[in-house]
Amino acid sequence: MSTSLSERLSQELGSLRESGLLIHPRVLDAPQRARTTVDGRAVVNLASNNYLGFADHPALKARAAEYLQKWGAGAGAVRTIAGTLRIHEDLEEQIAQFKHTGSALVLHSGFTTNQGVLGALLKEGDLVVSDELNHASIIDGLRLTKATRKVFRHADPADLERVLRENPCEGLVMVVTDGVFSMDGDLAPLDQLVAVARRFGAVTYVDDAHGSGVMGESGRGTVHHFGFEYADDVIQVGTLSKAWGGVGGYAAGHANLRELLINRARPYLFSTAQPPAVVGALAAALDEVQRDPTLMKRLWDNTRFFKAELARLGFDTFGSVTPITPVIFGEAPAAFEASRRLFDEGIFAVGLGFPTVPRNLARIRNIVTAEHTRDDLEKALGAYERVGRALGTIGG
Ligand SMILES: *Cc1c(COP(=O)(O)O)cnc(C)c1O
Repeated sequence: MSTSLSERLSQELGSLRESGLLIHPRVLDAPQRARTTVDGRAVVNLASNNYLGFADHPALKARAAEYLQKWGAGAGAVRTIAGTLRIHEDLEEQIAQFKHTGSALVLHSGFTTNQGVLGALLKEGDLVVSDELNHASIIDGLRLTKATRKVFRHADPADLERVLRENPCEGLVMVVTDGVFSMDGDLAPLDQLVAVARRFGAVTYVDDAHGSGVMGESGRGTVHHFGFEYADDVIQVGTLSKAWGGVGGYAAGHANLRELLINRARPYLFSTAQPPAVVGALAAALDEVQRDPTLMKRLWDNTRFFKAELARLGFDTFGSVTPITPVIFGEAPAAFEASRRLFDEGIFAVGLGFPTVPRNLARIRNIVTAEHTRDDLEKALGAYERVGRALGTIGG
């Protein structure tokens, strides 16, 4: 007898439930903002990736509405058939200029960008060396290629060098890393990684999903922060779904990169183009971050304040240097309990445990944004202090 769908569903759900991994997402009853309503409760929101407050920003909404009226609700086809509107081309030109790269291409999400770009560039006989903590979409993207896959220790240039030395390759060699790591909030040491890559003639591929709109001048990203934006041997990809407030992904780099991707990236070839309203919101986001320098300033002032205060209270923020601010609670049940208690105090911050993070490093991940006021952050810190004391995470 074959397995029925009902059996499969109840077995799989049962095993997730048993291991405590069954997820029930909380639901927002209001727009994505620093203060919002979640499951009917007014909260300070420390859970989003809305770094610059763009998800509900008036300038983005106005441009989205304008493009919706002028260009319609949908694109109507994949880009290569009949779906490329002038505004798609303009957005890509705007991204290339912003990133200081020879070309840029936009895809549907950061997730599909990793699949599309890695799949388009890597062939049998190539070598790809990936940081062990890279994002799931990189791992999935690499599974689609026939290149030889190797892993180097997290953010460790010496281990990268060892792997490259032990695996000589005549094909394309690619070093793949996140720019900002989403669980710890640390930065890839790109200066050292690119230096090692270059000694072996390798290309460096940086997924800057959490760095774009956060790092570098006007949020140009981690590659810009380290001064590699003009380099032909560095490819940057990232998302337009986090700081940029919409949804989408981009790949930027070498002048010929875009043309190859147009011809080879499967999501570009086989999935319908982004709708005009999204394109409008993204175009406005790129203008806005350059027009209003207070956005980046507030993001980083808030980041520094929140980290310093958490440290003063005795919390371990795991050396994070970006707005991603983990607070370590040890085992998963403690982190989940802390998250529940914070929610009862009107603070929305999500607990993460194994397998998302290592077993004894369960945490709450907070993301500080430009939109938070000092008041919001002080309210959160007050709640953290009470919850941390009650659970014995901090003394006193
Ligand atoms: C969030 C994220 C993605 C996925 O981006 P989406 O646009 O949400 O699909 C890809 N890579 C990294 C490193 C991310 O953090």
